[in-house]
Amino acid sequence: MYLRELNQSVTVLRGAGPQVEARLARLGIYSVSDLLLHYPRDYDDRSVFVSLADSVKAGRAHTEIEVLSHEWFGYGRMRTLKILVRDEAPGSTIASLLCFNRPFLEQVLPVGARAVVTGKFQFRRGELQSSSFEAEVLAGESASPQGLIPLYAATEGLQQGSLRKLMRQALRDFGSHVEDEVPASLTARRGMVHKREALTELHEPTSGASLSKARESLIYEELFYFQVAVARRAFSRKRDTITRHPSKGLLRARLLERLPFSLTPDQEKAAAEIVADMARPHPMGRLLQGDVGSGKTLVAFLACLEAIESGGQAAMMAPTELLARQHAQTAARLLEPLGVRLAFLSGNVEDAARPPLLAALKAGEVDLVLGTHALFSDEVEYRDLRLAVVDEQHRFGVLQRLALGRKGHLPDLLMMTATPIPRTLALTVFGDLSVSTIRTMPPGRKPIETHLARAGNEAKVYDYVRRLLEAGRQAYFVYPLISGGTAASARAELKNAEEMYERLAREIYPGYKVGLIHSRLKEDEKRETMEAFSEGRINILVATSVVEVGVDVPNAAAMVVEHAERFGLAALHQLRGRVGRGQEQSYCFLVYTEPLTEDGKARLKAMLGTTDGFELAEEDLRIRGPGELAGTAQSGALRLAIADPARDVAILEEARRDAFAIVETDPGFLEADNAVIREVLSRANPFGEAPAGRG
Ligand code: ADP
Ligand code: MG
Repeated sequence: MYLRELNQSVTVLRGAGPQVEARLARLGIYSVSDLLLHYPRDYDDRSVFVSLADSVKAGRAHTEIEVLSHEWFGYGRMRTLKILVRDEAPGSTIASLLCFNRPFLEQVLPVGARAVVTGKFQFRRGELQSSSFEAEVLAGESASPQGLIPLYAATEGLQQGSLRKLMRQALRDFGSHVEDEVPASLTARRGMVHKREALTELHEPTSGASLSKARESLIYEELFYFQVAVARRAFSRKRDTITRHPSKGLLRARLLERLPFSLTPDQEKAAAEIVADMARPHPMGRLLQGDVGSGKTLVAFLACLEAIESGGQAAMMAPTELLARQHAQTAARLLEPLGVRLAFLSGNVEDAARPPLLAALKAGEVDLVLGTHALFSDEVEYRDLRLAVVDEQHRFGVLQRLALGRKGHLPDLLMMTATPIPRTLALTVFGDLSVSTIRTMPPGRKPIETHLARAGNEAKVYDYVRRLLEAGRQAYFVYPLISGGTAASARAELKNAEEMYERLAREIYPGYKVGLIHSRLKEDEKRETMEAFSEGRINILVATSVVEVGVDVPNAAAMVVEHAERFGLAALHQLRGRVGRGQEQSYCFLVYTEPLTEDGKARLKAMLGTTDGFELAEEDLRIRGPGELAGTAQSGALRLAIADPARDVAILEEARRDAFAIVETDPGFLEADNAVIREVLSRANPFGEAPAGRG
């Protein structure tokens, strides 16, 4: 049996009656395998005793005590037991155990009883106290230290001790049935522990060294299957062969001739990689990453021209209508003169306009369609979709990617992102894609100057912006909320976009035109405002984070973010990237309100420290911790029980090498040694993938 096949109800275990069953359900535990997969979140090292005397300094005590007396305090339902204890250790210290919600400890720990107590102690009200402790009563002889004790995520009425007992039983009754899920050759080569032993060691560690070996084995197994899934996605692309008739590149050459600048070396390299992919007999799967303003759109257009000149269609999808419109405008400016037939499609294209548009797409009368995810809804059919470009893909879930893969006749896929993908994500969520990177910005850009200002001093910022406006430049003002009046905003006294729009227009910059844009406005209102701003008819754009992604107005020279502490690092970086797109000096003002959290402080410091998106992405990971890897939460595919791709990146890479090697040489898992993979995928697949087809 594989671990995930142990789907007997937990009630087969002794001591798991209806009440315990309900409590386990609160932890998401229904079956025996759920229970065994409820891995400890940490361990308590009880291999050495820590006396009560040392407990405050050490952070915790683990010591043998004798119960001296019982006291009760409080009234009625709040009546609480307090147990006075003394330990025998040097110093022979007295302490109080406060038994909130644990009146039953009166019987468990009667006066005179001896027990081992483990927990956090502190000095309060003139005595040493603990309200979070565990006690294990000693029958006869003295205790010896216990070693590593697992600590589980617990729930009310189901504490560590009961979980450990259930676990022990499950291991004894079912553990011996658990089979290895990794091919034997890999287990041997990697010196891994068998699944059965690893599982036991994890829940009942014998030593620190064997525990970490067991953990590594389980982490490897989990990441191995994850990478098998990634590898199969990657190779399924390679298995699909297509006949290509690469173009002569005439359209591309004509676009480049018409540009007032030349490509940066990185743009050239990325374009060449893409065009080369598009000549291979397999569908392309490529990620184009480059910081905000690095010129990815142009590279994407070159890819579209390749698809079009070789006789097919291209589709370019953006995460917001705003951004899609902007791409459509750029395309109209750059591509229409070359004779490319364009169309725009979003959920907001009026009903009357849709049928002819859909018919044109189906008939092949449109070469390039730009739009939102509506491009890949069921009603849309293409005559010959060769290339799907997905801009700012981190806004899209993996699900949409899959729907997109199903859409047509295996289109080439180009995903673009300005949020640099940390190596871990490149290996996991996007692990089936090749990567092109644009590192250098187009020439002539001046680095953006970033300034912090404490709320209260924003008048100075407003004055500075006024000088820029006087010099003919434009500015963004960004706020965390659209409107006031909510309880939350009132409590936190947050500024909001609507009120600040009024204030900026009437009081602060009365001589200038101010526009407002946020997600609650109608699409055509947004569009008009955006057009007015990009044509310079509006001087100041007040916004929420809707301008975060992709908006390109080179004359904008100031980005003012108020309540900057409320924005994530990635959002701040994106916002700052809206300026600094022209030849002149640009500024980013981050106005923050105190008190700042530690994380808030760290984010602002990082923004001040660098403008490099790659550095900020890494800093972001560091601040947020590996548990919150950007994008993984939404991916759904990453239901990992023990592995953490960010922390376990070394094991991840090994697992990836192994999985790719196997999927490449034996995609149907037909070799004897690989049969176990086939079995696991069909019987106990952690990622819910279908088993491999033959061959
Ligand atoms: P992003 O990578 O953020 O999508 P864009 O494609 O919006 O960046 O490009 C930002 C700006 O840089 C646009 O105004 C674009 O015309 C300009 N640009 C792109 N490539 C170059 C280049 N090689 N030289 C000068 N300007 C360029
Ligand atoms: Mg862009």
